[in-house]
Amino acid sequence: MYVIFFGPPGAGKGTQAAIIAERKDWAHISTGDMLRAHVANGTDLGRRAKGIMDQGLLVPDDLVIDMFLARLEELQADQGFVLDGFPRTLVQAQALDEALSKMGKAIDIAINITASDDILIDRMLNRAKDSGRADDTPEAIKTRLDVQKPSAELLSHYRNAGKLKDVDGLPEIPFVTMAIVNALRADGDDGVARAGK
Ligand code: AMP
Repeated sequence: MYVIFFGPPGAGKGTQAAIIAERKDWAHISTGDMLRAHVANGTDLGRRAKGIMDQGLLVPDDLVIDMFLARLEELQADQGFVLDGFPRTLVQAQALDEALSKMGKAIDIAINITASDDILIDRMLNRAKDSGRADDTPEAIKTRLDVQKPSAELLSHYRNAGKLKDVDGLPEIPFVTMAIVNALRADGDDGVARAGK
């Protein structure tokens, strides 16, 4: 299956994406992790993205899309994936649709993990204590919450296609995982862990 995880920063989408990818043996594609690796390795992309990321702003579409499409090309034809942090804009969603459609494929389901701002701020401040991330300062956290919630137009893109499923991110991690597994199953996943569909 091809699955997208949406959610504001702190909602647990990275945690859940990692759990589901591991269970299903799907690729976990996190553009945030990829960008952080570029920064750590001092690549040209990393140098261009670092200042933007440190402020909690979005890296320009063309940079992120090129990086993502290169990763997509590495996947084996029958390998499922979970997208974590991509697409974040409508332009990115359209680039994704186009790339998949060229492969004769499409996104199966987009899971939107929801949580209130109070909970999100608490979780992000807690994570900041030991994350070591440069963008986990209180200012960057506030900016990320303001500018990085999935936009209404991005969610509508998938809702209108009948592919968006809201999942409450408030319960403890295993309960959220269970809700996600149920949503995938309702969408046709047979619950068997293996590569591909
Ligand atoms: P994340 O780990 O998903 O929270 O991403 C960390 C940072 O990387 C974000 O705050 C953005 O600056 C940048 N980033 C990650 N994914 C994207 C994307 N799809 N579009 C633009 N910027 C991104």
